[in-house]
Amino acid sequence: MRRPLIAGNWKMHGSRGTVRALLTALRDGLDGTDGVDVMVLPPAIYIPDAVRQLDGGPVRVGAQNVADQEQGAFTGEIAADMLTDFGCTHALVGHSERRSLYGESDALVAARFAAAQRHGVTPILCVGETLQERESGATETVVAAQIDAVADVAGREALADAVVAYEPVWAIGTGVSASPEQAQGMHAFIRARLAHHGVSATAVRLLYGGSVKPDSAAELFAQPDIDGALVGGASLKADDFLGIIARAREARVS
Ligand code: PEP
Repeated sequence: MRRPLIAGNWKMHGSRGTVRALLTALRDGLDGTDGVDVMVLPPAIYIPDAVRQLDGGPVRVGAQNVADQEQGAFTGEIAADMLTDFGCTHALVGHSERRSLYGESDALVAARFAAAQRHGVTPILCVGETLQERESGATETVVAAQIDAVADVAGREALADAVVAYEPVWAIGTGVSASPEQAQGMHAFIRARLAHHGVSATAVRLLYGGSVKPDSAAELFAQPDIDGALVGGASLKADDFLGIIARAREARVS
């Protein structure tokens, strides 16, 4: 059985004070994680604070991005080695905001993915289609290309050692989640695409992301191919994030 993962992408929100308060509320509110992995992805500058504060507990700390290069003249980038230096175990690659606002191509995302893995950072590969792509029937083509680019650059076997987050762009930050059926359909498609690349498709954790809230989480987590969530807005409110973690726990035992 795949162990669920609930990851909170804080994006560029917070301050040193609010990070401390949110982590305190999260730590105090978690009554063990009961077979569910929990992770926060703070803005990079707060990673050392978060690792220190969460030390010894079950909540892991990841990064929102990772450089495609090892070291050198790459202003503004953070290398995978630097992340591991500070206790980061995971990094997002290819979040839709990186793709759309900062022009990151499938090839660059794949290079970031490969660099993370070279240094023991598990990539969380974000894939997903825009509304226009969905309406024009291109959803599967777009998502397949995002996955195939990683197989081309990092090697097919690299996909086995990653997490994939299906995040339809039209559902991110809009309050409109994909329906459980839409999400399940795409998760099944992604699993089949991984199998096409020779990856043991049953082993890879697939997260759904896009306006997940405590109220919508249970139905999503009841789907056979959804192994947790990448949570944006709701991860900034301890009660909501704890509620989503609770739904993942319940889904495991039901
Ligand atoms: C995200 O940014 O990855 C995300 C899923 O955001 P939200 O939950 O706010 O839609």
